[in-house]
Amino acid sequence: ATPTALMVGTGRGAQLGILIKGPEVLESTRQVDTVVLDKTGTVTTGQMQLVEVRPAAGTAREDVLRLAGALEDASEHPIARAIAAGARRELDVVLPAVEQFSNSQGLGVSGIVDGHAVAAGRVSWMADEWAQHLAAGLRADLEAAESAGRTVVAVGWDGALRGLLVVADTLKPTSRQAVAELRALGLRPVLLTGDNVRAARAIGAEVGIDEVVAEVMPEDKVRVVRELQDAGRVVAMVGDGVNDAAALAQSDLGIAMGTGTDVAIEASDLTLVRGDLRAAVDAVRLSRRTLSTIK
Ligand code: ADP
Ligand code: MG
Repeated sequence: ATPTALMVGTGRGAQLGILIKGPEVLESTRQVDTVVLDKTGTVTTGQMQLVEVRPAAGTAREDVLRLAGALEDASEHPIARAIAAGARRELDVVLPAVEQFSNSQGLGVSGIVDGHAVAAGRVSWMADEWAQHLAAGLRADLEAAESAGRTVVAVGWDGALRGLLVVADTLKPTSRQAVAELRALGLRPVLLTGDNVRAARAIGAEVGIDEVVAEVMPEDKVRVVRELQDAGRVVAMVGDGVNDAAALAQSDLGIAMGTGTDVAIEASDLTLVRGDLRAAVDAVRLSRRTLSTIK
């Protein structure tokens, strides 16, 4: 492609809400055959809501909400914000302070609240940490919620699991159509997330993606991209979070959501200004058009 054609393509991209880091980016876009999509904040809005509280037998619902709400208030994670906001809304109290707050990236959080050692996070992480199994009743609730595409957070204090919190995200209204259009262009979509397998599959089914890689630790997202590349695939990755940055940089074409974190944007070749996945489709079309008119 001539430099002029690429410059024109770059300008056209800006009109479509696609910021392109350099004209050469359009050349690599054309080769892509696989599009790895982060789930939370990319395919979904990432604006989560606390929708259910399930205390364990013998535990007060209010205590689960107050202690977990206070703990999560110290975290910026979208799940944490949903839980803190939900606790405030339901309890209508000032949440207690947290001491010795600690964040285990991609797993959960812990700290001291009201004199209790409290933790909240992935059910598997909590169970490992505390060497405990979930009571049968809670396990049934967990499976039902996850199968509906929801994320379940386990809450415990003083060495025992005390309840589950169910958090719901929603698909962005354009995600399904964007995935269908990516397929129509001959690209294979893959859904990548740290969330549990059941929830990831449910969201995948809603949006039209059957290739799902779930329960991936933040530092392992980059490994998933590399494995696809080793298998001969040319990979575009679309993401928004700090935990997507390494994978965005590793991919053949990194695409950041303009609504996401600066770290993700810096690691990417393209930014979708409005955070609408359909702009990723526009980017592929644009690059194909730009490169074919000038051959
Ligand atoms: P994603 O890939 O969906 O952006 P993360 O890697 O940030 O997810 O987190 C993976 C999982 O770790 C979440 O689905 C949740 O179960 C758990 N988790 C992470 N941070 C928190 C938190 N602050 N509170 C509760 N659970 C958390
Ligand atoms: Mg995300």
